[in-house]
Amino acid sequence: MQILIAEDEPRIAAFIEKGLRANGFATEIATTASDVLSRVMGSEFDLLILDLGLPEKDGLEVLEELRGQGCQIPIVILTARDDIQAKVAGLEGGADDYMTKPFRFEELLARVRLRLRTQSITAAQEDLILSVGDVVLDLRTRKATVGNKTIELPAREFTLAEMFFRHPGQVLSRQQLLDRVWGYDYDPGSNVVDVYIGYLRRKLGSKLFETVRGMGYRLKS
Ligand code: CA
Repeated sequence: MQILIAEDEPRIAAFIEKGLRANGFATEIATTASDVLSRVMGSEFDLLILDLGLPEKDGLEVLEELRGQGCQIPIVILTARDDIQAKVAGLEGGADDYMTKPFRFEELLARVRLRLRTQSITAAQEDLILSVGDVVLDLRTRKATVGNKTIELPAREFTLAEMFFRHPGQVLSRQQLLDRVWGYDYDPGSNVVDVYIGYLRRKLGSKLFETVRGMGYRLKS
């Protein structure tokens, strides 16, 4: 999980960074409003901790710009401003949470974790339908469709297909697939993955799964 800390006071930024890293998060620090905007729009952060008193622009304006551009990143405001107007403006402006300084790190961590969890539940609900081209996997019904034709897949084939559809364009090795799809339930050195890829090619499309020599397979994206 990647967290951007927007904070112009080095001591506070370092304090938050140290705590988050100790809890397994990757972090970056942005110290100005424009730095925050370009970094959030330019890369994949899972959450933004936003100070309101930033150089160049007020944090509330940064928030407005991000939400105005359709940016959905969870945002926790962390600020010395404890007036109710700022809090209301922050929450109405699309922040997910609001915390005032001075603060205890444990509380910030709890709020960060809560926001990330809410986010992943929403993402999981959106991910119930996976598709590449005209092939669709419906995770609720565990059925596949190609164009308008429904294809019944046995459980193991469906799970294997799901692995690929969750990582389109990514090479998955035989070992990864054995571990994730078969668990302990396989013969080491068996060619079961290749056999099952064969089944999926026949049912979902012969060109869908690319063989990457010496590495594994990749779903064309
Ligand atoms: Ca500040």
